[in-house]
Amino acid sequence: VNQGIKAPIKDSVSLEQYKAYNYATACEDCTHFDLLPETCTFTFPTEPFLRRNQIKDIETKGEAAFCRAIEID
Ligand code: SF4
Repeated sequence: VNQGIKAPIKDSVSLEQYKAYNYATACEDCTHFDLLPETCTFTFPTEPFLRRNQIKDIETKGEAAFCRAIEID
């Protein structure tokens, strides 16, 4: 895991909109994600960007981290 990365900035998000629009915003949607070990080919820490953690952050704090390097096929 890349240890040189700072904690990600979190953006305010509506849980209703997150669920309604089903945007591809999580590691699980990204080309660089390896599902079983839940790792990133860039060695970014995936924890903040996993869908379950985005939802948990939105539910508890009304905000979530979104990876700026996400790549969707
Ligand atoms: S590039 Fe970002 S969204 Fe894609 S797997 Fe890596 S950490 Fe997750």
